Amino acid sequence: MKLGAIEGGGTKFVVGVGNEHGEVFDRVSFPTTSPEETMQKCIDYFKEHEVEAIGFGCFGPIDPDRNSKTYGYVTTTPKPGWAQSNVVGALTDAFPDMPIGFDTDVNGACLGEVYFGAAKGLKNAVYFTIGTGIGGGAYVEGHLLHGLLHPEMGHMKLIVREDDSYKGKCPYHGTCFEGLAAGPAIEERWGQSAKELPLDHPAWDLEAYYIGQALANIVLTLSPQKIILGGGVMHQSHLFPMISKYMNQFLNGYIQKDELQAEDYIVWPELGDNAGLCGSLALALQAKKECE
Ligand code: ADP
Ligand code: ZN
Repeated sequence: MKLGAIEGGGTKFVVGVGNEHGEVFDRVSFPTTSPEETMQKCIDYFKEHEVEAIGFGCFGPIDPDRNSKTYGYVTTTPKPGWAQSNVVGALTDAFPDMPIGFDTDVNGACLGEVYFGAAKGLKNAVYFTIGTGIGGGAYVEGHLLHGLLHPEMGHMKLIVREDDSYKGKCPYHGTCFEGLAAGPAIEERWGQSAKELPLDHPAWDLEAYYIGQALANIVLTLSPQKIILGGGVMHQSHLFPMISKYMNQFLNGYIQKDELQAEDYIVWPELGDNAGLCGSLALALQAKKECE
């Protein structure tokens, strides 16, 4: 089966062709310019590469509700030119009968890990990307979670540690998860590129404290069977055991499940830096199945 994938990011778009096993055969990327120009490039690509369905994991916020008047829109983004843009409309105008799966980039990445990667076979999993921002996607009882809009778990408020005087970087919430722990917050707090901070720098213990705290909240609210952490900051693989330690400290023994202590409870995406594009393949596959 030939499936199309669009990974729509704020700085670049990646389009590709793959199959129902999450194998990618071809990929092309280009900078995110205006919605018209960017979507036209996606359309031109799929005019050249015939596919049976297209999955589109997009930066947000978006409207993923098929019953809504603004289904398929990027909604309130501060990204110039993109607020209230009908990105799925552009695709359906060009390919009227094509099944299209549209979701947040992180819900897509979460589904990709469920279909093809670290969470294969599980009915409950959560995926976070910790990079320029923090976004979370959730798969709950066999479905991606949308609800009112879609989860925005990167903006949950966290308790600031006593020794941290940083005011937080989120323009909406100051010291939310993203405001405290995304790459730009690390860099502003410590005045140094996150990539260059040495392994023994206190930044990493504080980072693990915030991520661990956020994951404890997620365990308490969504009860995932596995948590997958991707994004630039998580290339610091020494963070994983530290995050597990803090998550369990915050839970304080309240949930008696051995899995919480296991090394494979909090993991790097099995699809690695392909998580985004494979996530969109998973969205395409889901859309194709829904049309059958
Ligand atoms: P985006 O979120 O824009 O898709 P990334 O996931 O690569 O992109 O995240 C970029 C952020 O991650 C930057 O703030 C950068 O400082 C941080 N980052 C990237 N690589 C590393 C690394 N190896 N160690 C720590 N931080 C990193
Ligand atoms: Zn916030």
